[in-house]
Amino acid sequence: MKYISTRTKNFQPLNSADVILKGIADDGGLFVPESIPKITLDDIKNLVNKNYCQRAVFVLKKFLTDYTEDELFESCEVAYDWFDVVSKVPLMILIKDEQHRASPVGVMELFHGNTSAFKDMALQLLPQLMTRALKKVGETKEILILVATSGDTGKAALAGFADVPQTKIMVFYPADGVSKIQKLQMVTQAGKNVNVTAVKGNFDDCQNGVKNIFADEKIRAELEKSNVKLSSANSINWGRLVPQICYYVASYAEFVKSGTIKIGDTVNVVVPTGNFGNILAAYYAKQMGVPIKKLICASNMNHILTDFFNTGVYDRNREFYKTITPSMDILISSNLERLLYHETNGDTEKVKTFMKELNETGKYKINSSLKNRLDKIFYADYATEEETTALIKEVFGNYKYLVDTHTAVAMMVLGKYRRNTKDMSPVMLASTASPFKFTNSVLKALGENTEGIDDLAQLDKLAWVTKKDVPKNLAALGSAKILHENICDKNEMAEQVLKFAAQ
Ligand SMILES: *Cc1c(COP(=O)(O)O)cnc(C)c1O
Repeated sequence: MKYISTRTKNFQPLNSADVILKGIADDGGLFVPESIPKITLDDIKNLVNKNYCQRAVFVLKKFLTDYTEDELFESCEVAYDWFDVVSKVPLMILIKDEQHRASPVGVMELFHGNTSAFKDMALQLLPQLMTRALKKVGETKEILILVATSGDTGKAALAGFADVPQTKIMVFYPADGVSKIQKLQMVTQAGKNVNVTAVKGNFDDCQNGVKNIFADEKIRAELEKSNVKLSSANSINWGRLVPQICYYVASYAEFVKSGTIKIGDTVNVVVPTGNFGNILAAYYAKQMGVPIKKLICASNMNHILTDFFNTGVYDRNREFYKTITPSMDILISSNLERLLYHETNGDTEKVKTFMKELNETGKYKINSSLKNRLDKIFYADYATEEETTALIKEVFGNYKYLVDTHTAVAMMVLGKYRRNTKDMSPVMLASTASPFKFTNSVLKALGENTEGIDDLAQLDKLAWVTKKDVPKNLAALGSAKILHENICDKNEMAEQVLKFAAQ
């Protein structure tokens, strides 16, 4: 399998190891597979009695054909070893009552990794794929991953890259712009190759600092002297997308295994969406042959995607809301570019024009034939803040099942879909974070007072109120040793990078 860019016709195809190391194509486009590999119902049947890594490797080897099966298997085993459940991605099946037997919801719990959010699924595997890619392409330099974070991605990347050979990772976070728990998660990260630095500024300062470093030829040359090459781990890297395709295939097999559906039954998939990575992975799973009917794209008050699917216009000229689902507070859903590429049958000129318009005017409009194609595959809607909190309370009341705010958005939108379309097909719903990751909002949704209660104490309170256990990585934070106290001005970031690279 070779990879090409969404923006250039007759692009010289590359191997997956190359595209995982490059991240983004030289023309500014995103890497896409030349074709989407197919799987059959028999293939899926064979996966029913396999474990998560076996299922994942079956998918990975279709896309990453320049890796050996052993390499992929080792990568998975290391990546998901730490997860706190044997099944890695449990499927929690919610059925309201006998009357609704025909409409089960399989909640894919994607948050059992090192940071209790779904980014772990990809950020644990990406470093393993990268370090093996370095060997394949004969790269002897060390790779330095730079991350600017508003909280969650930083820790997930640190956990994934810690002590991975031939890599170093450096994370910049805004000194006063992350929660106490997010900060503790990062500054307690162990590993010989990690650096965590607070920046006296906000998230934009961190992000601009990192962007400037990437664009600075002098710094790159300086780094070369220390035998170091810069790279990034952001969500448009193919190496972050492909691990996500795996859990849709695996969860379908798990749904069959549970006896809830039969092999070949069609399901709908619901995803709380921000950057469009997770739901795009579901799209690839559908195109591969998993019996998925509709992809239901759930948004919060920043419902640019709902409007796009319903009107055909993508328009970022709008108010931006800070919500209780911060991981979906996004106005540029980068991975949408890949969908546009595939659904225009690889019309790179068209994709390039859309992206140029988006860059210059903040919007673009698709024609009605493309919109009709997307209508057949997608349904999109959003949930308000009030709907989201009410749903957390309702689901806990009905099922004693506790969900985080992002998952609640997906559940709310599923309810709207079912009411509007009367389509009661079984559903696989992506649960993207542990409720303990968003303790404050979840406690409030349950009607609990949080005022004056410290973040760590809120974890215990939520555990007590719901009789659930705090995930072990979060429970350990109170007593974990602080390992990183580095802090710098926003104009000192490059200096810090050079210092760390030379260590
Ligand atoms: C990143 C994230 C999302 C959004 O996923 P995308 O792939 O960006 O669409 C949703 N929920 C949580 C908890 C996340 O961390």
